[in-house]
Amino acid sequence: MTRLRAAAIWARPWDAPPVWGGELSLSGARIGAVTAAEAQGDAILIPGLVNAHDHGRGLRPLAYGAPDAPLEAWLWDLWRQPKTDPYLTALVAFGRMALSGVATVVHNHLPQTGDWLGEAKAVAQAARDIGLRLGFVVPILDRNLAGYDGGAAVKAAVTAQDWAAIEHAQALPPVEEQIALVGEIADAIDGPDVITQFGPPGPQWLGEKGLTAVAQAAEQSGRRVHLHLLETRLQRSWLDAECPEGAHVFLERAGLLNNRLTVAHGVFLRPGEIAALSDAGVALALNTSSNLRLFSGTADGSALLGARLPLGIGLDGMGFDDDADILRELRLTAALLGPRRFDTAGLSRSAILRAGMATGRTAFDGAEGQGLLPMAQADVVALSLQKLAYDQIDPAPEALAGLIMGRASRSAVRDVWVAGRQIVKDGAVTGADLPGAERALVDAARATYAAPDWASRARAACVAASTPKRPT
Ligand SMILES: [Zn+2]
Repeated sequence: MTRLRAAAIWARPWDAPPVWGGELSLSGARIGAVTAAEAQGDAILIPGLVNAHDHGRGLRPLAYGAPDAPLEAWLWDLWRQPKTDPYLTALVAFGRMALSGVATVVHNHLPQTGDWLGEAKAVAQAARDIGLRLGFVVPILDRNLAGYDGGAAVKAAVTAQDWAAIEHAQALPPVEEQIALVGEIADAIDGPDVITQFGPPGPQWLGEKGLTAVAQAAEQSGRRVHLHLLETRLQRSWLDAECPEGAHVFLERAGLLNNRLTVAHGVFLRPGEIAALSDAGVALALNTSSNLRLFSGTADGSALLGARLPLGIGLDGMGFDDDADILRELRLTAALLGPRRFDTAGLSRSAILRAGMATGRTAFDGAEGQGLLPMAQADVVALSLQKLAYDQIDPAPEALAGLIMGRASRSAVRDVWVAGRQIVKDGAVTGADLPGAERALVDAARATYAAPDWASRARAACVAASTPKRPT
């Protein structure tokens, strides 16, 4: 049994302020007891965080020449990503997340080779080595990979040779094979802390037959489904043309509108759609930094106020400082989706904390995190009191809560336990040589870097077709 003495414990930050002092005992993968004790040491204990939507970007787009830009243009830049070892790539991404207090990640995999099963095994091994709980989302897609018009605009603007290269690069196995692969991957990697999910990347990227087949396969297997929804204005226009009745109707027709569904982004969701998703028990992962960096704006905090749908916070591999800092992401989301002036419309701080530490876990296994309570899963983060509150004058617990919410970032994370295992100790991951892994990954990427020319020409065509015409 591990006993953690604390300077303060903030057991359920969305419910009540922290208490000074205390002791937490970890009994295997669970919390044994939380008891009162005199304050000791530097640790403020909080629940482990959930990164409810990510892609495991061990190599970050800015580093390989993909600047922040509107999503549809940026997707072409992602073809610049060097092909690197999937284990090393995921290890570096998961290690970075762990350092900011992430205990659970829902990873939407972006395959780099034809061997999706092999990549899944490598990613699951990386999660186990770092010690993160992993939702592994398998992509299933078959259309609009070169634009929401079926690729017509890009095809018209590039040479036949470029178009052939694009079609070759985007070739995929038939949808039935992709769906069948989800079961194979699950058989190979699932365990108590790894759960495979179906991942149509978005309604515009998988045809209706495929979406219906995913819904049926998910129903039969009881697996969760995770998809991007209404991330951009162009996706809103696409969906309005396909289904003017709204996203909920579109999802219902496919059989996907149920409490096993997580949608990510939701920037352009309308209030009626949010209400319908709430009624169905759909989870929503917010991705504030990513939405800012990819020119989408922000989700509507006031429309989400009062919605009962489980919210999560996702980094999407695109944190604002490009450093996978889930704590800063919470604060940024609170600032941008929170109340304005004296109006209370907007997501409260407690709603954001709950999303990051409790309801976001729904995207992993459908169950809400409980915080630091006896019998709850032993996912614990120790923040440094010295770092966050060395100058605290008002001794009230509420003032400490304000300091944590106002200042917490990865630089304050000292230790992290997941299911009772210590995965970060004194600010370093315990399961791998993270600095060495990152050096090896970057070296390998530099050695193989070769950005395809056609990607930049297709990107230019996409930008030309998507830029609103203004009178001169
Ligand atoms: Zn994403």
